Amino acid sequence: MNKKLLILHTGGTISMSEGEDGRVSPSAKNPLLLALEKLNHPATLHQEAILNVPSPHITLSHWLLLKNRIEKAVKAEQFDGVVITHGTDTLEETAYFLDLSLKVDVPVAITGAMRSSNELGADGLINLQSAILVALCPESQGKGVMVVMNDEIHNAKFVTKTHTTNVATFQTPTFGPCGLIAKNRVIYFQHLDQYERYPVEKIAKSNVQVIKTYAGMDSFLLEQLALSQCDGVVLEALGAGNLPPSCLAGVSALLRADIPVVLVSRAFNGVTQDVYDYLGGGKQLKQQGVIFTTGLSGQKARIKLLVLLNQSLNRPLADYF
Ligand code: ASP
Repeated sequence: MNKKLLILHTGGTISMSEGEDGRVSPSAKNPLLLALEKLNHPATLHQEAILNVPSPHITLSHWLLLKNRIEKAVKAEQFDGVVITHGTDTLEETAYFLDLSLKVDVPVAITGAMRSSNELGADGLINLQSAILVALCPESQGKGVMVVMNDEIHNAKFVTKTHTTNVATFQTPTFGPCGLIAKNRVIYFQHLDQYERYPVEKIAKSNVQVIKTYAGMDSFLLEQLALSQCDGVVLEALGAGNLPPSCLAGVSALLRADIPVVLVSRAFNGVTQDVYDYLGGGKQLKQQGVIFTTGLSGQKARIKLLVLLNQSLNRPLADYF
């Protein structure tokens, strides 16, 4: 019997069209709903336009809506896999939230497009076809949410959008894609062992801010955040995980206010480590209570912190990063 796939359209360029004046905007009717008939695959497809928004409009409540819809589809409607179409700007964030929180084991693939449906060289349909193949592939099971773009498969945790317009925009900088789609074949080359999941029903603590640091940064923003009763702060630090001395008073103010401070690197490749032992160096920051991450970007660390802050944890928060 054919496998049953649910395709959830959320909007983004993949669902948009270009007008004669070059402006790209959402179409009244999602062009993907018709285009799917042209694709050839051994599956029974059911598609829904659950949203029709550009991805900069995506919020936490959209993530919960998607999560609940997918869990219902698998548990109550016997779907064997799910494909999500999404704008590329925040695709990696939706992918990672679902990766951390979905309580189902069927393959889930998320895709988008860099060119709208009627542009020359439009990549939407081929990406959608690839995502369907990934969702149908038995080997995709147990790998978490897969980001499928431009013939590549990436784990949700580390993939990032690296280019504003190029179709090869999605990359996993530190170790590359986990698999490929070669013609109609899905081939995996590596497995990510760090797949983790947490129960998320609602997000009560949702005020986690991300701040990029820079040479000569002062403590102004961090001190304001310390007064603001936010739930957590992610700092995009310098290099391997260091900060300018002039913002350390702000870090101390956050920690004194019991606001967790999670540190990632603003460098887009590599991991943070507490190696430097000078004022503002990683060694001293970690001793002070700043939480180091391994390879997460600022936007991904924010999602992980949001998810963790809404759990009852039995170990210190730092142990989960
Ligand atoms: N701005 C668009 C969006 O994220 C870009 C895209 O879909 O590629 O919705």
